[in-house]
Amino acid sequence: MDLLKEIGDSRLYNLHSHTQYCDGRADMEQFVVAAVEQGFSHYGFSPHSPVPIASPCNMAADEVAAYLAECERLQCIYGDKIRLFAAMEIDYLSSEWGPSHDFYQSLPLDYRIGSVHFIPSEHGMIDVDGRPEDFAVKMCEHFHEDLRHVVTTFYHQTWAMLNAGGFDIIGHFDKIGFNASNYQPGVEQEPWYCQLVADTIDLIAEKGVIAEINTKAWDKSQRLFPSPQWLSMLRQRHIPVVVNSDAHYPHLINAGRDKALSLLL
Ligand SMILES: [Zn+2]
Ligand SMILES: [Zn+2]
Repeated sequence: MDLLKEIGDSRLYNLHSHTQYCDGRADMEQFVVAAVEQGFSHYGFSPHSPVPIASPCNMAADEVAAYLAECERLQCIYGDKIRLFAAMEIDYLSSEWGPSHDFYQSLPLDYRIGSVHFIPSEHGMIDVDGRPEDFAVKMCEHFHEDLRHVVTTFYHQTWAMLNAGGFDIIGHFDKIGFNASNYQPGVEQEPWYCQLVADTIDLIAEKGVIAEINTKAWDKSQRLFPSPQWLSMLRQRHIPVVVNSDAHYPHLINAGRDKALSLLL
């Protein structure tokens, strides 16, 4: 499917959302009802993928069939009002487990989002995507307070995911900047940090994937992922973008969209 062609010139869509099948806070149908009420043209579900490690935020492998069946059921009921997509936000863990893995490639998904939430440590894979308070604890417990190592590893995981391929949209590609800058204010302006992001953008352009402008944190923290300072570089590299709310609640499906669109325009 040509996702960008499918969306066309609509500005009221969301391709990244979470429901009862992972860590979302409402049933899929409640999100569809909210999207229809707000006049959305397209709405995509993207549960956190099953992963071979313990993670309370990710869906179980044995629930994938039920999830896909629910997508079909909702498309039958609401398909004349809105175009629904069955997708997945797939975690990249290693060369053995990521969007290019046979398991994900064999699923009948409309598109795939590739995201990094976990990075390796001497104690196994650690989720570095949670709240800043939790991140600070993990910095001490797993990473010897070495922020540069954590940030660099996050981007190296991102590069490995891009090189392995198998996905259409890269999710919140500078998300580590949020926790990193809470831990050490100003780190996102440091030359070494900027070089990691710039190299990531170059690789996104080279691989031809769509970059997401993720608005999930706008209302609470006035953050976009990527940070607005990188939008001009995305444009210079002719990288296609989509604006996604990464909603976990039905009332937030459109949160931050106006801000992201105004910055893009
Ligand atoms: Zn994510
Ligand atoms: Zn997400």
